[in-house]
Amino acid sequence: MSTAAPILLTPGPLTTSARTRQALLVDWGSWDEGFNRLTASLCEQLLAIVNGADTHHCVPLQGSGTFAVEAAIGTLVPRDGKVLVLINGAYGKRLAKICEVLGRPFSTFETAEDEPTTAADVDCLLRADSAITHVALIHCETSTGILNPLADIADVVRRHGKRLIVDAMSSFGALPVDAQQVPFDALIAASGKCLEGVPGMGFVFARKESLAAAAGNSHSLAMDLADQHAYRMKTGQWRFTPPTHVVAALHEALLQYNEEGGLPARHARYAANCRALLDGMAALGLRSFLPAAIQAPVIATFHAPKDPRYQFKAFYERVKAKGFILYPGKLTQVETFRVGCIGHVDPAQMREAVAAVGEALREMEVFDT
Ligand SMILES: *Cc1c(COP(=O)(O)O)cnc(C)c1O
Repeated sequence: MSTAAPILLTPGPLTTSARTRQALLVDWGSWDEGFNRLTASLCEQLLAIVNGADTHHCVPLQGSGTFAVEAAIGTLVPRDGKVLVLINGAYGKRLAKICEVLGRPFSTFETAEDEPTTAADVDCLLRADSAITHVALIHCETSTGILNPLADIADVVRRHGKRLIVDAMSSFGALPVDAQQVPFDALIAASGKCLEGVPGMGFVFARKESLAAAAGNSHSLAMDLADQHAYRMKTGQWRFTPPTHVVAALHEALLQYNEEGGLPARHARYAANCRALLDGMAALGLRSFLPAAIQAPVIATFHAPKDPRYQFKAFYERVKAKGFILYPGKLTQVETFRVGCIGHVDPAQMREAVAAVGEALREMEVFDT
């Protein structure tokens, strides 16, 4: 097992299928009709996943997920707008940092890392500050795996006549979101997460009227989603060099997504992965950081063993030698480590990963978990 490529139990890049990686072996010309069709088909399929074809455009963007988040804020929030950023982890903090760097006025509301933001919180905050134009939310906060109540919050934001920007990077494709039921101005995700493509591009579902009204608003040329979209509508092409191989791999990954049974099947597999992981780790005596009720089936956080012989780096190396790549914790207050449930993996492999964790701890003589 140690000689084969390890299985990534991380929230992106993650384990992809051989068929998806095979799609990387073709060179595409960016002017080629075939490639333009690939992009158009990709955007159509992505929009179908959120039931957004009537109300939203899908705007693909080169780069990692953060590029797409930054582009969405820079394009859709007017320079004299104000963003309320809801924070319960590192990615929420990153949203605030983006607003700060872009010079968009913002305020923050922060809850503990094991405490979801509630719709009642957002209701109070919007009552208290009428200057707020946009609310920005992380759907699944990947720094712990906590799930925020998107539908309830979207409803409150709509009732106040404000606009919602959702970072759904680590949930899109696995947790259901229907654009006709859950109103948003922008929902952002990327190629290398629950769709099981390779990393390299993000995409933003932007409300059609909002995108049209945002022309000229962006502070940046490369990150201007209004211009990116207008150019593709005019030419069928990406503005600037497209990540051709990434597009081809994501297209192939989407074919498999649909063959598997689309979102319900993807969600069911990840939920089974997460259950196998949580049950197995509990049997080893490892405690999960989040209560099950607010745990998204995306990534799980575990308390580090109390035993002084435990050390993340040595533990990581031992588990890696057995074929699995874990993820460090991202909490400031408590020592943790994380294990992803997403990617081209199944519950049997999750059980093997748990067995590898158990062996590694025994080898390290870590008994006090
Ligand atoms: C992965 C992720 C991002 C994007 O991170 P990149 O490193 O830029 O790909 C943003 N938000 C959340 C919630 C994520 O999980």
